[in-house]
Amino acid sequence: MTSTDPWLVWLNEDLRLDDNPLWQAALEERASHLLVVHVLAETTFQPFGSVSPGEPRLQPLSTGRQHALLGSLESLRTRLQALGSDLLILHGDPAQLIGQLARQYGCRGVITRRATGVVEQRQQHAVASQCRLRQLNSGLLLDEDELPEPLAALPESFSAFRRKLEKARPSLPDMPAPLKAPSRLPGWPEAAPRGFQGAARQLFEARHWQADSRGDYTFAPGEPAGRQRLQEYLTPARAGQYKTTRNRLSGRDFSTRFSVWLALGSLSPRRILDALHTFQTTLPEHCEHLQAAFKDSDWIRVELLWREYFHWDARRLGRHTFLGESSSHDVAQSTSPVQTSEALERWQAGMTGVPWVDAGMRELAATGWLSNRMRQNVASFLVKDLGVDWRQGAAWFEHQLLDHDVASNWGNWRYLAGIGRDPRGDRHFNMMKQARQHDPLGHYVSRWIPELATLPAGMQRHAPWLAWPNNTGRARSTGHYPRQPLTHIESWEAHLADITPTRVTPWLSG
Ligand code: FAD
Repeated sequence: MTSTDPWLVWLNEDLRLDDNPLWQAALEERASHLLVVHVLAETTFQPFGSVSPGEPRLQPLSTGRQHALLGSLESLRTRLQALGSDLLILHGDPAQLIGQLARQYGCRGVITRRATGVVEQRQQHAVASQCRLRQLNSGLLLDEDELPEPLAALPESFSAFRRKLEKARPSLPDMPAPLKAPSRLPGWPEAAPRGFQGAARQLFEARHWQADSRGDYTFAPGEPAGRQRLQEYLTPARAGQYKTTRNRLSGRDFSTRFSVWLALGSLSPRRILDALHTFQTTLPEHCEHLQAAFKDSDWIRVELLWREYFHWDARRLGRHTFLGESSSHDVAQSTSPVQTSEALERWQAGMTGVPWVDAGMRELAATGWLSNRMRQNVASFLVKDLGVDWRQGAAWFEHQLLDHDVASNWGNWRYLAGIGRDPRGDRHFNMMKQARQHDPLGHYVSRWIPELATLPAGMQRHAPWLAWPNNTGRARSTGHYPRQPLTHIESWEAHLADITPTRVTPWLSG
């Protein structure tokens, strides 16, 4: 029996047809028509700084993030049109707009993905007070009732979570399988608007944005591009070496690059695990490197479990995800508010005078992406070496990262700042030790800080203040780059000893 009631599907970070239970739910409800809507947050086009970190509002989007969202919405719209449906994109208060549309088009109810972030949860709550709301789990590997233990008993550490999960689900085929994309969808409600409407059209202005080619990778938005990357990456030469290469800083294939599609919901983690399983079972049996390739590629599963853990932890923490003071005991020195705001601005601009940090911050601004290794380093530097509140860093990442995901971003920042559960002091990274380990020749830093290119390859590029004494030819050598680091940590010196014995004091500025 066909229903005569339309339904509304409210999409957020689930911009895909594949493995998306929202479509199944609409078909189960026998919707006569389907209105598919995405609402851009009110803060989307505001300048950065207009939303305080920790305030229950989403951060404004950088042009890069707007670009990625625009492409993902346009790609999905084309796919929906091919199934006889469409997509309506609005800008404003989602709670108000969704409720209004549901009433206006006589929708029987609204189907949406259960939100992880508190802002989105509040919006969903407000919609539920106006009409029937069906919230479904989507975009994660497990549903809440599939967790090894109830959410309230989520283990204190990732390791314990992983152990319990692996005991309950020892192999990839034990994980829930992805759903198929729908082959048809109910038609569009007559007279309902379609496409980008009103202020949502401002998103078109981000069309021109391009990631800096020094990032070695151009993200192509949309579900087909995400699936293509999945196929392209799952080969012995790439996935088969994942664990070995994942800590690198640059290159096209050292890590999967799935994060942007995952964050926008153009790729589902269940689809990734399913494809990973297929890849692993097709590795040639007598291949000499079979074991190594299997193990290396299996680390992709482990990283997806990190994502899963942060998601469930954010659901458990609710608004506390955004709260918590970082312990300042291992901050190099106490800092005044003026020093703190100068430090934050110089960190954001890639002008701290510590090339290892500045290169990362410049890459982030120019591409909207950063390797995990560099994310850890720049975050540790801000919080542990400069003594800046971790939430300032998390807010900047939220603004900039094309792959911003509320649980992964705020969870990783909390983790590095040592907030809440599982606090450990060893998340204070030594910048020079890290630089020596991951960029001994300084290729990465000179790529993003051309001012350093005049220095010979080697650790000198990580400590230019040693090579550029204050009184000789500095203007010509450094351009506008700071001549002295914003801070200098005692423990760096051991890793710089073979450059020069010059002693440097803390909080010298350029
Ligand atoms: P790969 O190394 O190929 O990993 C595969 C997938 O596993 C990733 O796409 C991601 O979904 C997941 N993953 C890997 N590492 C982590 C991790 N530490 N935490 C959670 N999931 C992980 N990741 C985001 O997706 N969005 C964020 O907003 C985000 N913010 C971060 C902020 C900080 C301070 C740090 C240290 C890490 C953050 N990460 C975030 C995690 C990680 O850095 C990125 O997921 C990864 O670098 C993305 O590149 P990739 O897809 O090539 O990752």
